[in-house]
Order: sequence, then C-alpha cells, then structure tokens
Amino acid sequence: MSTVTKQKRAVAINPTRSCAPIGAMLATYGVHGALTINHGSQGCATYPRHQMARHFREPIEVATTSLTEKTTIYGGRDNLIAAMENVYERYHPTMITVCSTCLSETIGDDITGIVDEFIEGHPDVDIPIITVNTPSYIGTHITGFDNFLKTVAVDFPVKDKPNGKVNIMPGWVNPGDIREIEAMTRKMGIEGIFLTDYSDTLDGGIYRPKPQFPKGGTTIEELRDSANSLATIALQKHVGGEAAEIYEKQYGIPAYTLPMPIGIENTDKFIKTLSKVTGREISEELRDERARLLDAIIDAHMFLTSLKVAIFGDPDVVEGLVRLAAEIGLEPKFALTSSDFKPWGEDMMKLSDELGLDMEIMMKSDLHELYKKIKEEPVDLIFGTSKGRFIEEDLDIPLIRMGFPIEDRFGYHRRAIVGYRGGIYLVDKITNAVLAKKGLVVSNTLLEKPVEGAD
Ligand code: SF4
Repeated sequence: MSTVTKQKRAVAINPTRSCAPIGAMLATYGVHGALTINHGSQGCATYPRHQMARHFREPIEVATTSLTEKTTIYGGRDNLIAAMENVYERYHPTMITVCSTCLSETIGDDITGIVDEFIEGHPDVDIPIITVNTPSYIGTHITGFDNFLKTVAVDFPVKDKPNGKVNIMPGWVNPGDIREIEAMTRKMGIEGIFLTDYSDTLDGGIYRPKPQFPKGGTTIEELRDSANSLATIALQKHVGGEAAEIYEKQYGIPAYTLPMPIGIENTDKFIKTLSKVTGREISEELRDERARLLDAIIDAHMFLTSLKVAIFGDPDVVEGLVRLAAEIGLEPKFALTSSDFKPWGEDMMKLSDELGLDMEIMMKSDLHELYKKIKEEPVDLIFGTSKGRFIEEDLDIPLIRMGFPIEDRFGYHRRAIVGYRGGIYLVDKITNAVLAKKGLVVSNTLLEKPVEGAD
C-alpha cells in the first residue's frame, strides 16, 4: 500500500526545482523569433540562462530589466519601458514575453499596466507583447511554463475556418522528445500545431550567415490559427492541462489531457487519441515500433524483474516513469517531486493502486530527503536529473539520467524518452546500467560478482 508524504523541513537541501521564469523563457524559445524580457535583477536572468545553456548546450538570449536597489524602492517602470524599446528596436522580434520575478512581484510592479502604457505610446510597435506572472515563491519552473501556455491560449487564437490540424502541447520535455512526437504524428499523416516547439531553436545547427533568430519554432500565425484545430492534446497535465481547457471553453475545441507518453500504455493512449480526433488509422510503422518495444521489454525482463527504483523529477515525468518502471518489471519504491500539487498526489495514489505498488509518494520534497530514505531502505536504481549524482556517488547506486537539467553528461537533450522508440532507448539504457553494475554475463547468466581469476 502506497502513502503520500510531504516534507516538513522548511529549508530545501539539494532541491529538484528551478525558478519559475525559466519556464516562461523555455516556452518563449519555442516561438520563432520571440524574445523574453525578464523583469527583475540581473541574477534572475543569469541563473536560468546558465541552467538552460548547460542542459541544451546552446547560447541562451534573454533580456533583463536589471533592477537595482533604487528601482526596488521606486519601482521598475522606467527600466521595463526602456527594455521594451531597446529589444524592439535592436532585435525586431516577432513577439516579446515579459516575465516577472520574485523581486518585481514583491515590489508590486503593475507589469501588464506598464506594457499597455508602452503599447499606447508606441503605435509603431506591431508585435504582440505578452506578460506572464512567474514569481518563484508560487510554483516552480513547471508553473512558469504552464502560465505561459494559459496566456497564449487566451491572447492569441483567432477563430476562422477549420484547419484540420491538432494542437499538441508537449510540455516541459527535451528537443528530442518534441521531434519524436512530431515523427509519430507525421506517421499518422497528421499535421500538428506545437505549443510550443523548441526542438530546433534549442538543438539547432550552425548556419552561415548566422540567422538573426534560430531556425524553427512555432510561428505567430500558427498560434493564431490554433483556434481552428480539431482538438488540443496536452501531454503533461501540469504543463498545458488548463490551457487545453481554455481552448475547449473559449473556442469549442475538445481538450484531451493525457499522461506523458512514456512506455507502452501511455504511448498507446496518445496514438489512439490522435486516431480518434482525426479519424486516421494507426500506421503500420507505429505498430512495428510498438512491437519492437514489447520485444525489448521481454528480452530485458530477466535482468530487471523485481529491482527496486527511486524516481524523482517533474510531476508528469515521474508519473510516466513510474508506469514504465512497472511495465518493465521494476518496483518503484519512491516517487518524488518538488511541487506541491495536490492532484498529483491523488493521481499517483490511483496509479499505485492500479499497478499494485507499495511506494512512498513524496511531494514538495528535496533530494536530501530522498537520500535519507534510500539509506534506510536501499534501492537498486535511481531515475532522475543530474542533481541525483550525489546520491549516486555516495550510495553507489546507478543514476539513469533523464529530465531537466542534465548538466554532467552530454547530448541528453537530443534523446527522446517518449513514444515507442523512446521506450526502447530507456529499456536499453536501464538494462545496460544493471548489467554494468552487476558484473559478468556468461552465456546469458547474470552473475552477481565477477568470477575470481577470470580475465
Ligand atoms: S529571485 Fe526568484 S526569480 Fe530571481 S533567480 Fe531567484 S528564484 Fe528566480
């Protein structure tokens, strides 16, 4: 029987969360030619930029209003007006996202009012400027992304004739995941509007001459046209679920909020939903990919069955990984997220009951808490971000890296963990970690320790 626990300690030690503006920045990167102005101190732009650059291995451009002691007391209006003028004149972006920070929210700057004032005083400015509230004391990086999507759902769509497309909100994933979701929709002959698509903008190539903005991203026209799609599919409940409902209520487009398509069953749900809303058959190619994932699971079961695993990260990622772990025979013992979303705890309990698990569901928790738990009740594997490396090193437990951020390894942002092919990648990776840890395999027999005297 599983239980839901919440950390009581007020201070966080080795937290898994990032600050909220980074979510709005990441989502803005998915709109072609868009730029973010971070309304706060320089550090509020620098910290997210560094974290994104270390994970995506791309230069990250974000403007800042550079609030100081003086503007903290007298307000940041002038800085924000100057920032919008500079960004518009120098870069000519397709859109500006102004996101708030702990500082600008605490001093009470009326950001929407300042933006309106700027637009009124600059009739020549012909691009959308949106504001997203991202104080980090309310929510995490997930909340910042989610708030961006809700703003887009309200501000952009324009009802016109049906476009036959499907709105897809991948949520907080990697460029490799977005590519995989795009590939799956293409294999069904479906065109998607991705809200938003940072697959190329954050995993791009080198081009000469260097384009002013990275190639790729959802266009402003697509954002406007998203009111005319057949349906909206949110692939993360906590990043896009509410925005999908706005599409349903305001534009009459059916909303489907699905679990992140990790593993067989969750990917099946996505594919079946695509088929249902478009009337398209599930393609032979996708059926073959599914069959290969099933085969990989069967081949790996002798190495994985009954191993215990601790999983941490963003709520939807953890939920997807728990199901995948159960599908491949592992026993999830701890599932941890830093967020305090009550529905997540309830959903995880339902999932646990369905899968017959006995695990501790840890909400609003940090990795020090997980470290203490694992010391008392050891596990064989950990799934999570680079932040788990201290547990990996101290307790000598393999950490299978996934999620955001991965800063101590290279190229993970290009890997997909979603879809059938992402599932195969995960099965291979997890199985190889087990084999590397446990020792020799001789004639398909797994030995706990290397044979003495063997070469
Ligand atoms: S002050 Fe708030 S918004 Fe700024 S970097 Fe820190 S957590 Fe992020």
